[in-house]
Amino acid sequence: MKQIFAFENENQMMLHKDLAHSMFQRLQPYQLYLQQEFALKESPKAVVWTPADLATTIFSTVPIPAYTKKNIIYMSPIVEEWQSIFFEQLDSRDLPVIKNYYEQNTKSQMMEILAHELTHHSDLFLEEFDVGDWEKDIWFEEGMCFYLPRKFLLDDQAFDEISAVERTLVKEFKDTYGQHPLSDFGSTSYKGNMTSIMYDYWRSFLAVKKLIDRAEGDIKQVFSQYQDWYNSGKKNSLMDYFQINI
Ligand SMILES: [Zn+2]
Repeated sequence: MKQIFAFENENQMMLHKDLAHSMFQRLQPYQLYLQQEFALKESPKAVVWTPADLATTIFSTVPIPAYTKKNIIYMSPIVEEWQSIFFEQLDSRDLPVIKNYYEQNTKSQMMEILAHELTHHSDLFLEEFDVGDWEKDIWFEEGMCFYLPRKFLLDDQAFDEISAVERTLVKEFKDTYGQHPLSDFGSTSYKGNMTSIMYDYWRSFLAVKKLIDRAEGDIKQVFSQYQDWYNSGKKNSLMDYFQINI
């Protein structure tokens, strides 16, 4: 993978390149782990580091400055931009403990998001997520793309902490944004505000965590159940197939 810096303003790039480099470095062992354990056969060609305004208006119109398009990961390396996204997703609710978590862990969250994008490239996922031809049931892939990076990058305490944060957020926003089944998480996911978008990501992570906890930590077993569902024609929703509720 190459790193490419796409900034309009060279001085702005200088301010953020060190963090970008260090995240890129930290991605290497994770990439190796995915290659060895989780069928990462073809890595993306590059990570394009670019500010949020370019990521969301020039390179794409996706509202979040981290995504994969045609084998290239685009991501903002700017801490302040991510911090404001993490605050925005709290929807002006008074959640001091959660806010404090995001303040203290902005860079760690950014690292998880970068690794999330790489995880999508594993061949164990059967939908072509980056061309958007799926309609439903993308929660398994999205949830797994948070579960694997967090398991690899975080220690047990930090893993439990982000799990608790997202559990709290799901509870907090259930009445406002949680009235649809998680199975509907799909290609229309980017409609709505930041909280409604993120709501399904939080639920997806918690759903996958539930499955892996139920399999006593055996991630590969959960993958193979998912593949059985897919290969046998996706007869019912993946939630029904796994018999989980969230
Ligand atoms: Zn994703």
